[in-house]
Amino acid sequence: MNVDNLKENIEIVLRKIENAALRSGRKFQEIKLIAVSKNVEPERINLAYELGLRDFGENRVQELLKKYDAVRREINFHMIGHLQTNKVKYLVDKIRSIHSVDSIKLAREIDKRFGEKNKTIDALIEVHTAKEESKFGLKPDNLEQFLSEAQNLKNIKFIGLMTIGTLTDDEKEIRRCFSTLRKLRDDYSHFKSENIDLRELSMGMTSDFEIAIEEGSTIVRIGTAIFGERKN
Ligand SMILES: *Cc1c(COP(=O)(O)O)cnc(C)c1O
Repeated sequence: MNVDNLKENIEIVLRKIENAALRSGRKFQEIKLIAVSKNVEPERINLAYELGLRDFGENRVQELLKKYDAVRREINFHMIGHLQTNKVKYLVDKIRSIHSVDSIKLAREIDKRFGEKNKTIDALIEVHTAKEESKFGLKPDNLEQFLSEAQNLKNIKFIGLMTIGTLTDDEKEIRRCFSTLRKLRDDYSHFKSENIDLRELSMGMTSDFEIAIEEGSTIVRIGTAIFGERKN
């Protein structure tokens, strides 16, 4: 893919974000784009940076570490994929947020490791809303318990919720996932403490980000529409 392709892809994505926002009476500025750069080489990440993108999402610690020194230092990385507790320590100093906190054990480890370096990290709680069976994401019914156990962690700040919608062509089903997350956020917005203030909704990928924005998404995570199909 050459520069022009990337530039055009980014422009198309931004225009779609703006149109989806306008359609639902929202502002373009309310929605943050995270360009998902998994399987994308550092050179192209830097190119995307030069074309104006600042926030990039990675889903594997190993890959992030491998690319880290080869990309522009100004880039903000976000961990969006499932995170094992034994990998948390490698992320301190390297990322701006974690979107995939799905257990109190992981939350405690993040709190501990960032605390050791006197850092605080923004985090989103991953909630399972999709139809498919998945190992990842809290069940909506377990969110309250999670929050009450997480409210005394000092070095992890919970700013919102994240979900991955059902992979389907059925728009109604996709919408159901995203509106479930929005309702959960609204239901728990009163649950405020020193380190909990749920505002953000990280939802929407290449195939469903416009629906997600219509349902209230504040952060979209888009890979394929920007960088093209991934070769795995
Ligand atoms: C890969 C990935 C994305 C982006 O997927 P695309 O369909 O390429 O836009 C978003 N979120 C998570 C958690 C991912 O792993």
